Amino acid sequence: MGIRRQLCFLASLVLAIHAAPTLKPVDDYNIAKEYLMSFYNLVYKPPDSTARQPDPLPDTLKEMQKFFRLKVTGKLDKKTLEVMKKPRCGVPDVAAYSTFGGKPKWQKNKLTYRIVNYTPDMSNAEVDKSIKKALQVWAKVTPLRFTRINNGTADIMISFATRDHGDAQPFDGPQGTLAHAFAPSPSPGIGGDAHFDDDELFTLGSSKGPVLFLVAAHEFGHSLGLSHSDVRGALMFPTYSFTDPDRFSLSSDDIKRIQSIYENRDNPFRPCFLPISCSPKLNVSLFRFFWRRSPSRSAAQLLIKSFWPNAPDNIDAAYEDPVQDKLFLFKGKQVWAFNDKNLEPGYPKPLSSFGLPASVTKVDAAVHNKNSGKTLLFFDIYYYSYDEREKKMDKGNPKRLENGFPGLTGEVTAAHMSNNNIYLFSGANLFEFSSSNRNLLRLLKSDHFLPC
Ligand SMILES: [Zn+2]
Ligand SMILES: [Zn+2]
Repeated sequence: MGIRRQLCFLASLVLAIHAAPTLKPVDDYNIAKEYLMSFYNLVYKPPDSTARQPDPLPDTLKEMQKFFRLKVTGKLDKKTLEVMKKPRCGVPDVAAYSTFGGKPKWQKNKLTYRIVNYTPDMSNAEVDKSIKKALQVWAKVTPLRFTRINNGTADIMISFATRDHGDAQPFDGPQGTLAHAFAPSPSPGIGGDAHFDDDELFTLGSSKGPVLFLVAAHEFGHSLGLSHSDVRGALMFPTYSFTDPDRFSLSSDDIKRIQSIYENRDNPFRPCFLPISCSPKLNVSLFRFFWRRSPSRSAAQLLIKSFWPNAPDNIDAAYEDPVQDKLFLFKGKQVWAFNDKNLEPGYPKPLSSFGLPASVTKVDAAVHNKNSGKTLLFFDIYYYSYDEREKKMDKGNPKRLENGFPGLTGEVTAAHMSNNNIYLFSGANLFEFSSSNRNLLRLLKSDHFLPC
């Protein structure tokens, strides 16, 4: 037994005192050592035979425990080992050690990708679909757009490989590391590329093996310049956890971080609340997102909660009054008012604060007409007209939808005003009315405003 191994053995004996009795201390010490060397820049110097060196592991272990918001003990306890044994991304968590020092980003919005080879785990069509969907996750919240190419060098080269695969970061067989990716770099090369460990059993959407879409969406976060997040539940959290791909949505942490790289936050913007999603499966009458159009006309889908942390989840309706400079959000029998990001004092208030009768159990849709100063509130087959300047309901309310908006069929699920037209959403239809004479101008599809 060499001196180095003896030191390790001694250290593991010390650790064993603190470890649960069922653990195998030597194995666990080695697992921890490997883990911290791979992801936390743990360096073992060759031991000096004349002086006793302190074991560098506990300090690095503390760093890891801090990142995962575990109890920071510097000891290899059961919870810490559990985290270390979880399947995860191969990119280190320590920014200075990773290639993500500085702020790497693509200097263009149009990026290409190429699927270099396929995994035998899934059909080629399933791989294509998973990759495309994973890139869309980021396209939806940034000005970035992705185009597939089949030959030559793409910005993002996507490949499946096992063990040694030519980039000095060999994969580790089944479990453990699932994939890794490289930060953007201006010169053509490995920057932006994503590699998937083909010793895993990738799936389309099963809990039997890592879901390729989820792993790829995470890796593409790196390809665009993101490092790991310490927010549990964020896509950029280092360990893998299963989510139904059809129910997946980016966390506000991911959205905030990617938009700090790719969205110019100084641009003034008007939020636009459209109850529609690029996914046809989402219920269109509840929404968690709003759309923001930048001067370049690219639209970004943002979490309402990421801008207004005090907003309720899944709002029913929203409108903005530019004169009062207030945003109103409706949910159930209550209304919230915000000035910039701040909840106005006294809110949330009941719907009766608008003069709505108790029979109105929720507001289906709301739109403010800045020319007239009136806000229309839709409920069931009726709408109410509220005068924002007089702060009272207009006389003769409610009105039936078909009387106020001839040609409209069905209930209104959302409303929106732009270019002096009022847009009313109803199921898959979008009705365009003139705001002045209420003439039906066009019947459109509900995804008319969307970038997808
Ligand atoms: Zn990662
Ligand atoms: Zn690789």
